[in-house]
Amino acid sequence: MDCIFCKIIKGEIPCAKVYEDDKVFAFLDIEPVNEGHTLVVPKRHHKDLFELPEEFLAHSLAVIKKIAAAVKEAVDADGINIGMNNGAAAGQAVFHAHFHIIPRYTGDKLGEWPRKKYAEGGINAFARKIKDLL
Ligand code: AMP
Ligand code: ZN
Repeated sequence: MDCIFCKIIKGEIPCAKVYEDDKVFAFLDIEPVNEGHTLVVPKRHHKDLFELPEEFLAHSLAVIKKIAAAVKEAVDADGINIGMNNGAAAGQAVFHAHFHIIPRYTGDKLGEWPRKKYAEGGINAFARKIKDLL
């Protein structure tokens, strides 16, 4: 399969690896938002969150916590964003599920998502619709 992250995991493409176990692999993002930006990648190829088996997801989160603490200390960050892009519309460019660990600094001016307001009473309708699908 022509997947850049599968190739990195197999060692066919070089990377700056920081962690590996039987289920996940972690390396530095080549175009960091801030230095130390790390990607945590489940070793088995699944395209996104929705295809990721629970065992990988639970394990990934535990690993993310551990690596995020190390990243924060290594680059003396003030905060850490954990992110995952799912789908092209959400900014996903590599379709092998992965998590971003992004160091943040007070005043780094990376900005926040622009926010909307719900129409009067509208928030409850959205909550009901989501609840009914769970
Ligand atoms: P996403 O937009 O969530 O799919 O993120 C893909 C990420 O992979 C981007 O932040 C890229 O900078 C990163 N990336 C792509 N190719 C490489 C590579 N060869 N080594 C390290 N990071 C990469
Ligand atoms: Zn892959």
